[in-house]
Amino acid sequence: MLKGKTALVTGSTSGIGLGVAKALAAQGANIVMNGFGDVDGATAEVTALGARVVYHGADMSKPDEIAAMMAYAAEQFGRVDILVNNAGIQHVARVENFPPERWDAIIAINMSSAFHATRLALPAMQAAGWGRIINVASVHGLVASAEKSAYVAAKHGVVGLTKVTALENATTGVTCNAICPGWVLTPLVQKQVDAKAAALGLSNDEAKKVLLGEKEPSMQFTTPEELGALAVFFCSPAGNNVRGVAWNMDGGWAAQ
Ligand code: NAD
Repeated sequence: MLKGKTALVTGSTSGIGLGVAKALAAQGANIVMNGFGDVDGATAEVTALGARVVYHGADMSKPDEIAAMMAYAAEQFGRVDILVNNAGIQHVARVENFPPERWDAIIAINMSSAFHATRLALPAMQAAGWGRIINVASVHGLVASAEKSAYVAAKHGVVGLTKVTALENATTGVTCNAICPGWVLTPLVQKQVDAKAAALGLSNDEAKKVLLGEKEPSMQFTTPEELGALAVFFCSPAGNNVRGVAWNMDGGWAAQ
């Protein structure tokens, strides 16, 4: 379905971004990957699906590096047809204890990077008359949890950016939507499981149940594969008139 299209997925060396990159690659898209950590392992997993894959190591907190990544993608494949703004980090602390430099990093990586990549991707999508911008927000783009001020602010901001981008392009073939996962068992969440296990003296499995029980009625983690399938739907012809939604895949979290 996506043969000949190019998808750039930020933060695609791990977790949800890797799951989305694999789902788009399985549909035939060329993939531009980004992120830190096990770059070789992640690019090999996506390449194994038959996709043409390139990697750019832009730090998503740095606008000039984001610009370099977008230019590199255009140089490699002509243009970016599908932009998935996914890179993100977390820090947990009460507002009065929240380190200002962690606030700045979360706002930059989780929110401002989506603005920069979007503003740089839009002109080529508009000229081509087709484009998909998918922002990986969070259920925390819809509701709050204590001790996540920067994350909740950034994700609400991403949902707002999603709506404005969708409206400004509503008469074109360019759509913009957000995905709002609940708990997904990636390294980002495993750290929170570890913290809970340490604080309450629980095993890993017990801590996972406590984490899910606090927020997610289904008592199940959403998987990167499920989120990848939703991204594919947004890219499909059936997604042509889906514009500006914040689609939660959260086991009922936000329904409460
Ligand atoms: P993860 O830690 O597995 O992956 C994060 C990715 O972002 C990695 O590839 C990492 O290298 C990359 N990254 C981090 N900082 C970066 C930077 N400065 N520049 C470039 N890349 C950077 O986490 P994940 O759970 O897969 O999270 C992906 C996205 O999904 C995030 O935006 C997160 O907020 C969101 N999300 C996660 C959950 C969850 O439960 N895991 C729920 C809702 C939303």
